[in-house]
Amino acid sequence: MRSDARVTPPLPDPAELERRAAELLAQWRVPQTGVAVQWNRRLSTTAGRAFLRGARIELNPKLLARAPEQLPIVLAHEAAHIAAFRLFGPNIPAHGRHWRSLMRLAGLEPSITHEIPIEGRRPRRRRRHFYLRVCERCGDRQVAAAVRYGRCHGCSARDGYLVVKAPATTAGRTALERLSLAEVKALH
Ligand SMILES: [Zn+2]
Ligand SMILES: [Zn+2]
Repeated sequence: MRSDARVTPPLPDPAELERRAAELLAQWRVPQTGVAVQWNRRLSTTAGRAFLRGARIELNPKLLARAPEQLPIVLAHEAAHIAAFRLFGPNIPAHGRHWRSLMRLAGLEPSITHEIPIEGRRPRRRRRHFYLRVCERCGDRQVAAAVRYGRCHGCSARDGYLVVKAPATTAGRTALERLSLAEVKALH
């Protein structure tokens, strides 16, 4: 037994992550299962991102070392982007029904909600979060205490939403209102 056991287990190496990603793509019946996976220490707020044409996934070692239970979810989230691209081509919404059905096939909740950290007090009332819902197709946006996934008021699409949540405080609401579409996309 080694004596230098750490409190947190080390992060898996890229070869192990590539094996797991290939397993997911095989499970999704993608003919070509090869995906490169890399740890990128320069990522700050993004847990992971996928480069579709390059068939490459980058993961954030600082965030995922603190929340190792998120790693399988983030890896599947990004792998599903690559699988959806290979199966359905480039003209599908990033988190639309194709991507969501792949996440469900992998037994995972297709959550597209990211939380932005806000300094200050936590909300004390029952309502814990405000949600910003942005339509990826037309940019239509709503800030509300709950997210609805009906048809978009702007373009009537149902499957183009990106969602960011923040604590249900004035600072949280203001932060959500200030997020640009590009910033919302960068969080996903
Ligand atoms: Zn829309
Ligand atoms: Zn995504």
